[in-house]
Amino acid sequence: GIVIGAGAVLAVQTISSVRRQDSTKKTQILKEDIRNGLEDCIGNTPLIRIKHLSEATGCEILGKAEFLEPGGSVKDRVALKLIKTAEEANLLTPHSGDKVYEGTVGSTGVSLAFICRARGYLAHICMPNDQSTEKSSLLLKLGAMVTLVPPAPIVDKGQFVNRARALAAAQTASETEPGRGFFADQFENPANWKAHYEGTGPEIYQQCGGRVDAFVAGAGTGGTLSGVGKYLKERLESVRVVLADPQGSGLYNRIKYGVMFDIKEREGTRRRPQVDTIVEGIGINRVTANFEAGRPYVDDAIRVTDDEALAMARLLVEKEGLFVGSSSAVNCVAAVRTAMKLGPGHRVVTILCDSGTRHLSKFWKKAGEVAGDEEMTLDGVLGC
Ligand code: PMP
Repeated sequence: GIVIGAGAVLAVQTISSVRRQDSTKKTQILKEDIRNGLEDCIGNTPLIRIKHLSEATGCEILGKAEFLEPGGSVKDRVALKLIKTAEEANLLTPHSGDKVYEGTVGSTGVSLAFICRARGYLAHICMPNDQSTEKSSLLLKLGAMVTLVPPAPIVDKGQFVNRARALAAAQTASETEPGRGFFADQFENPANWKAHYEGTGPEIYQQCGGRVDAFVAGAGTGGTLSGVGKYLKERLESVRVVLADPQGSGLYNRIKYGVMFDIKEREGTRRRPQVDTIVEGIGINRVTANFEAGRPYVDDAIRVTDDEALAMARLLVEKEGLFVGSSSAVNCVAAVRTAMKLGPGHRVVTILCDSGTRHLSKFWKKAGEVAGDEEMTLDGVLGC
């Protein structure tokens, strides 16, 4: 009797413990994961091992997949921080008629446009008229106002950043138009680099388990390079921070020689108003607050030609199925060169800023034209 009784108790215990496990399992499986609007999907992008580049260099080359951001680029993080900081400072109030103005080559505009829609602001974007048409079309679809201006040097009143600043001031001063004008000012506003110091930098550090040998990125405003560079340098004594600079940009000389322009080339003057490259979003011929915020942390600069960027973009598609935009291609060329300088066994992290779909009408049109039947190789890319 004792034996049977003990068996029965045991059986009951087993059943109840199975039930208990089941109910725990169920709550685990059914845990909610719901984002509060599109804006809540910004950040926490994957870090991708770019296999072909890693194998070819003997290093680990990792790309932060910012093209997977909901607004399609690394600029989502910045746009959100610019808006939130302005709201905290009471410079913007949702659904009050307040308008957001920005000068951008496009990506920041797209990010601002979708965030403004969701938060109840009108976005007014000023951009140069020589950028890929995908960005301005998308802005219009998102309901933003778009002002296209001819490319001009920063000293010119009609330059896209100056136009945005002036329009914002006019909106604030207007007695007939309701709402204030807020100039987001991504080039000078420190909220830009802080978005990367608080987001992109910590994410990379954690995703790498604290082991990063080099961080490589181009600079448009300088926010990414400064924010991530500063964050990593404060934690890793030996990490190298490297600027990837397209042809025609003045930032290379700023890092290498402490000066901005090659006087002989007269870059940044009226004779050469623009950065002379097919690449969009990085490379600039003036010093910005967001670049200067991180300049003390930058160890080196690498100049990348348009031909190298075009060939790298094609190589990434051929070997990885990775369809990236022009600035990502520049970053990957500079990441490879950094890996080669460091030697095998090192880990180099870079940014995959946006997708090739944003660059079909310009960069990828050219990349398509140069496409031949020959198989792409990394040696071929670097030999361009
Ligand atoms: N890539 C693209 C496509 C961009 O639009 C930008 C921003 N202008 C960058 C890279 C560079 O980022 P940052 O402004 O942080 O230097």
